[in-house]
Amino acid sequence: MKLIRVGAPGAETPAVLGSAGERFDVSSITPDFGAAFFARGGIADLQQRWAAGEIESLPTLDPSARLGAPIARPGHLICAGLNYADHAVESNMAIPDEPLLFTKAPNTVVGPTDDVPIPRGATKVDYEVELGIVIGSTCRYLDSPEDVMSHIAGFVLSNDVSERAFQIERGGQWVKGKSCEAFNPLGPWLVTPDEVDLAGGLGLWLDVNGERRQTGSTTSLIFPVDILIHYISQFLVLDPGDLINTGTPPGVAMGMAEPAWLKAGDVVTLGVDGLGEQHTRFV
Ligand code: ZN
Repeated sequence: MKLIRVGAPGAETPAVLGSAGERFDVSSITPDFGAAFFARGGIADLQQRWAAGEIESLPTLDPSARLGAPIARPGHLICAGLNYADHAVESNMAIPDEPLLFTKAPNTVVGPTDDVPIPRGATKVDYEVELGIVIGSTCRYLDSPEDVMSHIAGFVLSNDVSERAFQIERGGQWVKGKSCEAFNPLGPWLVTPDEVDLAGGLGLWLDVNGERRQTGSTTSLIFPVDILIHYISQFLVLDPGDLINTGTPPGVAMGMAEPAWLKAGDVVTLGVDGLGEQHTRFV
């Protein structure tokens, strides 16, 4: 099942994507895909209704309307840094012994075709295609990585946009270079785990103005999804609706001999196998 949110920013309607691209309005079942929806087992409820044919009898939404991020603003947005060995090398940073975690402001989450403004004073804007995880139920001191999958609501395409000068050259933590306005395009879809072949590995790619920059596979994750979520849960409580960015494969601008930083007018397209594509203009 693929969940989407349709409509103007801040006023999106929750919907389920049909097999022919229909957008079935589920606002009569839930006001939004946020913490309360996930906490009450909303995914399982929608899947039951889908199997019973109930969703397909609901009204449909305008197929040309804007898609927002497929989840409401998360409580936590936690990211893994340097989680692909080849990206750690291109970043001139050591491969971490334990997952390197940082936070990003949750209000950076925007839709998959929304414009992203170049921040004031920015000189080194960069991109990071990532596999995102949406938490379905509370993760607190999980006993083992085997427990993780039952706590996952679904997977989502995420762009962890970064400003490297703010991140690395201005002191303090990475948060400054990660939290600028609209710095986390998300979606188009939240895809439930039954439709995602994690074990087989998911390909990731990203183009800038049609030129391939990033190519990778989740098979190269140093700390894969189950290890990562288990690890995070030993330090903080993950709540339903939280978003985790799992790290980016090589090919970011920072790793180039002569970095081609993003500038106004650039168009970034990206995708992860089975999770759809984004089309973002920097302005
Ligand atoms: Zn990242």
